[in-house]
Amino acid sequence: MPCKLCLQETKLRHSHILPEFMYKPVYDQRRRAFSTVTTTEGLWNSSTTEDSRVTYHQKGLREYLLCAACEARLSKLESYAKSVLTGPAPRAAEVGGAFTYSDIDYNRFKLFQMSLIWRAGVSTLPVFAKVCLGPHEERLRRYIHAGDPRSANDYGCAMFAVLRDSRLMDSIIVTPNSYKIEGATFYIFLAMGFLWWYPMRTKNIATHYSDLFLKETGTMIVPLKAFEDLPLAIRAVCHAAPLAQLP
Ligand SMILES: [Zn+2]
Repeated sequence: MPCKLCLQETKLRHSHILPEFMYKPVYDQRRRAFSTVTTTEGLWNSSTTEDSRVTYHQKGLREYLLCAACEARLSKLESYAKSVLTGPAPRAAEVGGAFTYSDIDYNRFKLFQMSLIWRAGVSTLPVFAKVCLGPHEERLRRYIHAGDPRSANDYGCAMFAVLRDSRLMDSIIVTPNSYKIEGATFYIFLAMGFLWWYPMRTKNIATHYSDLFLKETGTMIVPLKAFEDLPLAIRAVCHAAPLAQLP
């Protein structure tokens, strides 16, 4: 099997789709397990959660995808992204209902954002089945392989911080789903307490999304969203997971 990123025929590593550090806050301390919630299409716009499903896993979801060299490349992006999201510097300043990040290394963080949705797109695991990137999959592969983060508006990702009781709601991962919003297709998932919004239309994105994309200057605005202000359906699945018991 060829490596999905460099396309070389070589021995593949058991690669994470979402990096292991994103699962850390979710692990149940005692049982070393975590839950993911798989939602069905349109769930955010409906008032029922009958079609949502909570699945428990012992380790971050992996699949044979990448060669050792590509794995190492993505691993460097992951280390950097982890330092941005959890580490001491650069820290987010809370200003006007948003985290304002500055001094982010544009290339590394943007490529990390692109790599997340690309990996979800190439994965054959059922929980990532809703991410079907079509022609964007090959474009993203070429850009990531070339280390080309593109411009801010090209494959940008808008992030929102979800707060519950004034804390980042990082105890759950909601796996990606696709949504039609204002005529554009978005892929959205929740991890690390952040909603990651990926619009797949690269032109004429509404400015209230593109204003949130990481800028080449290293600035990124991440609005705070109270859990209570999320649509009812997503609140319901988030409520369900922590309450569910392991079999
Ligand atoms: Zn490779």
